[in-house]
Formats: sequence, structure tokens, C-alpha cells
Amino acid sequence: MSDLRELYQQVILDHNRKPRNFRTLTSATGRAEGYNPLCGDRVTVEVALEDGVIRDIGFQGSGCAISKASASMMTESLKGKTRKEAEALFRIFHSLLTEERPPLAEKDLGKLVVFSGVREFPVRVKCATLAWHTLKAALDGRQETASTE
Ligand code: ZN
Repeated sequence: MSDLRELYQQVILDHNRKPRNFRTLTSATGRAEGYNPLCGDRVTVEVALEDGVIRDIGFQGSGCAISKASASMMTESLKGKTRKEAEALFRIFHSLLTEERPPLAEKDLGKLVVFSGVREFPVRVKCATLAWHTLKAALDGRQETASTE
């Protein structure tokens, strides 16, 4: 298991160093800010939704490696997905982080499975889910700041 854990850690560090889709959108239809007071992570997520499909998605912000890598990998995973698919994926991702038993649909997570180790650090769960909570607010067109509290 330790090789796998090391690989997962490398993927997270890589996304932290070189976050994907780290930019603002010119065509955003929804935008929300998220804040995790426990760790100090801040993220802004923008989406361009067209006919219920996420055509484009980007984020900006600052925070710990977990929060940044999670936002980066979320944007990679969700481009081209419908809003419904995105919400379903968040549910699976959340159960990966919080439940003793890995989710049945774990294979649907793809690369997001690298966050499985977060399960052992409950305080980090909020870092890993911050971008997702913020995305939900952006999809809902809510303007207020999403908080993990
Ligand atoms: Zn954090």
C-alpha cells in the first residue's frame, strides 16, 4: 500500500504545484467563493453552464496543497459533465472521504481516488471538499460565500 500512497501523494503535490484550470472565465454563468476557516483555504470557482452542461470551469484562490489539488482535479473531472453528473460525483467523492467502507461507485471517481488517504485525517476533509461546496453554490447561482462550517 505504501507505493500506492506515495503515488497518490505525488499526484496531489503535482496538482498543487501546477494547478489545472487556474484562471478566470470570460463566459462564466455562475461564480462563488468558498472559505474554510479551519485551515484558511480560499477558493473562487467559476462555471460556464450551457444547456445543463459544464462547458468550462476554472478556479482561483490560495490554500493548502489538499484544497488546491482538489480544486484542480475537480475542474479536470467536471468539464463536459452535466450538472446532475457533477452532483452525483460529489456525493461519491464525499463518501470516499468520510465513510469507512469505500463507495461502490469508486471507479467513477477516476483520478479523484488519490484523495482516499484524506479519510484518515478528518480535519482535512473540509480542505478536500471546499471547491466542491463552492462549485455547488456557483451552479445554484448563489452569490454568498460558501463555507465548510
Ligand atoms: Zn486546507
